[in-house]
Amino acid sequence: MAAKNNPNKCLYCGGCVGVCPVQAITLNDTKIVIDKNKCINCGACVKICSVSAMELE
Ligand code: SF4
Ligand code: SF4
Repeated sequence: MAAKNNPNKCLYCGGCVGVCPVQAITLNDTKIVIDKNKCINCGACVKICSVSAMELE
C-alpha cells in the first residue's frame, strides 16, 4: 500500500510534496515520484490535492 499519483489529473503544483510527513514525494519537473518504502499511507497528500490526483491503493 502506498499513495499513487494520476499523471492525467496532476497539475504538478507541488502541494502534496510539502505535506508528506515522511518526505516520500518528490516533484521532478513534470513527474511526481512516490517512494513506496517511505509512504505510511497517512492520506495527507490525498486530502490536500485539489484535483484528486492522489489516491491510496
Ligand atoms: S497536490 Fe495534486 S496536483 Fe499538486 S502535485 Fe500533488 S498530486 Fe499533483
Ligand atoms: S499517504 Fe502520507 S506518507 Fe504516503 S505519500 Fe501521501 S502524504 Fe506521504
